[in-house]
Amino acid sequence: MTAQPMSPRTTVRRGASHAEYGKSEILAVLRAGQIAHVGVDTDEGPLVLPMAYGVTEDVMYLHGALANSLLKAGGNGVCATVTLLDGLVIAKTSFNNTMNYRSVVVRGTPRMVTDGAERLEALRIITDHIVGNWEHLRPPSDSELRATRIIALPLDEMSAKIRTGPPVNDDVDADAAHWCGEIPLVSAWGSPVTAPDSGATLPSSIAALADRPVNP
Ligand SMILES: Cc1cc2nc3c(=O)[nH]c(=O)nc-3n(C[C@H](O)[C@H](O)[C@H](O)COP(=O)(O)OP(=O)(O)OC[C@H]3O[C@@H](n4cnc5c(N)ncnc54)[C@H](O)[C@@H]3O)c2cc1C
Repeated sequence: MTAQPMSPRTTVRRGASHAEYGKSEILAVLRAGQIAHVGVDTDEGPLVLPMAYGVTEDVMYLHGALANSLLKAGGNGVCATVTLLDGLVIAKTSFNNTMNYRSVVVRGTPRMVTDGAERLEALRIITDHIVGNWEHLRPPSDSELRATRIIALPLDEMSAKIRTGPPVNDDVDADAAHWCGEIPLVSAWGSPVTAPDSGATLPSSIAALADRPVNP
């Protein structure tokens, strides 16, 4: 564990040996992930939705349709969780089975992004985080921008849990004849498939995207 917890409510209690509070270490997990599960309280009860995101050193940007219920309800505070599964950890008992993972929990009250320049920059950051092809795209139109809600969640109250390594078995199982160990999860992008209405042949910049590691 490095650094100090950022707040009492983001202090890891269970499995505290896996806690990580260093901002650069947490940012590394956020930059490696693709999907945040974002939770809010709504008038109809709790709601957690998977969303694309992008990060700066200071904020996590989330975007969606103007009518998106989660983004509208975010004023009451949100919790965004990013999870990277790195492998299965198989112990001698189901009780000790676990996973290797990197996960981050960000809690806070987001602000609505209304400034035109910041909105464009936020969309660039989200697009480049997920795909990395902003500069090769037609810029968003005014109507597309009007239809999009963007919020910025501050990155000043967050925690990470990171587990690596083999299973931990109980002493009572030391001589038990059950296999134990790890199965690493290896993910990869497939080859790009050009759409029938593509207006261009596959550029090398897009082909290169498929060579990027998943969850590096
Ligand atoms: C892929 C995966 C699968 C998991 N499966 C299970 C499961 O099946 N059952 C189970 O009980 N637990 C599971 N966990 C662990 C789970 O995420 C919690 O850490 C654990 O359940 C403790 O919850 P708690 O409320 O007691 O945590 P507490 O330690 O009381 O949480 C306090 C604070 O610690 C931080 N925190 C807690 N968990 C995490 C986390 N995972 N990542 C970053 N920050 C965190 C948050 O800021 C939270 O507000 C899994 C984790 C991952 C990544």
